[in-house]
Amino acid sequence: MTQLPGHPHIHRVDGELHVEQLPVAQLAREHGTPLFVYSKASMLAALAAYRRGLQGRRSRICYAMKANSSLGVLQVFAQADCGFDIVSGGELARVLAVGARPQDVIFSGVGKTRAEMAQALEAGIGCFNVESEAELEVLDEVAARAGRVAPVSIRVNPNVDPKTHPYISTGLKGNKFGIAHERTLAAYRRAAALPHLRVVGIDCHIGSQITDSGPYLDAMDRMLDLVAAIEAAGIRLQHIDFGGGLGIDYRGDQPPAADALWAELLRKLDARGFGDRELLLEPGRSLVGNAGVCVTEVLYLKPGEQKNFCIVDAAMNDLPRPAMYEAFHGIEPVAQRGGAATTYDVVGPVCESGDWLGRDRALPVQQGDLLAVLSTGAYCMSMASNYNTRPRAAEVLVDGDRAHLIRERERPEDLMRGERLL
Ligand code: PLP
Repeated sequence: MTQLPGHPHIHRVDGELHVEQLPVAQLAREHGTPLFVYSKASMLAALAAYRRGLQGRRSRICYAMKANSSLGVLQVFAQADCGFDIVSGGELARVLAVGARPQDVIFSGVGKTRAEMAQALEAGIGCFNVESEAELEVLDEVAARAGRVAPVSIRVNPNVDPKTHPYISTGLKGNKFGIAHERTLAAYRRAAALPHLRVVGIDCHIGSQITDSGPYLDAMDRMLDLVAAIEAAGIRLQHIDFGGGLGIDYRGDQPPAADALWAELLRKLDARGFGDRELLLEPGRSLVGNAGVCVTEVLYLKPGEQKNFCIVDAAMNDLPRPAMYEAFHGIEPVAQRGGAATTYDVVGPVCESGDWLGRDRALPVQQGDLLAVLSTGAYCMSMASNYNTRPRAAEVLVDGDRAHLIRERERPEDLMRGERLL
């Protein structure tokens, strides 16, 4: 058995790719392609690493469900006693559908609507992570109308460079997220004065796919300066939320392990005298990213003068990260075969030149072979679209030797539901 680098619980047995105990090729035969296959054990192992790092502390892990919001995945985290970080009323409906405790739900996002605020107040969520001073005023009004008091935390933009792709950097001055560091104290004073808000915490989230602990340590320092100033103004903070953002190994990336990162961060927290606070974290990618692969069939091989193309049945609508961020996903044959490799651009059927999944990949493949696109548990299905009227893929969650179909493949009639002829 050989382990796939960076993918716990995904390995090869006699050259055949397996997720936990099940051969991927068998799952593809049963459910068709493109097909997402996830390992439950891998998700739980990633969660356990965070919990090891936080052992002995008052803490809550709120899975940032935007990474993968399929109900079966949410259920795994709800059953493991996680909270959830949501960014829309739709996400709230999903977590409630899997039986999550509303008080363990926190609501992030720069553009919460009044209707979403009312829905979240009605559900009784644990905290609104407020991202602007204008949002504080609107939330107070909505809470007043609902006859409730909204628990709030203010998301601070600490102006720290997370050294990641600009589209997933969120804690710099030029980003739309959070309230500027310099405005935070004034915003807390206002929040504390509004009658239908109750200040409960402070939060930040500086970006995603962070592979170095330095930006976290810098952000923590800046946050703790603020905590000291806010509390000196007489406003007590019950929790400190450091967001998510920890990276995964896509291509030999070496992010710190969650337990090691937290050991380092907690040393700083203790040294600054805030070790007794309840900690909240909002990890997404690092809990699910390397728990999943996407299986796709090679439809055609198309040799060319400048490029050879390997045309597969998964596309940018299923796997949007390469088109969006020029992101890298490993791509490997599901069954290792001998023979010479040819260099291909692996592309999908969508009518866009941006529809590529991997460039210049040396692959020993033939028409009809199955390929596995790796590290596709996060920000793939949750970002999938129906562009080109392509039904979204099916999803299977493997638990040991059992496969649960957690999402049926869409059919064209599903896509046309709700549309009307003139
Ligand atoms: N929290 C907030 C507010 C976010 O915006 C995000 C992602 O963008 C996350 C948590 C999760 O980040 P990641 O998946 O990198 O852990």
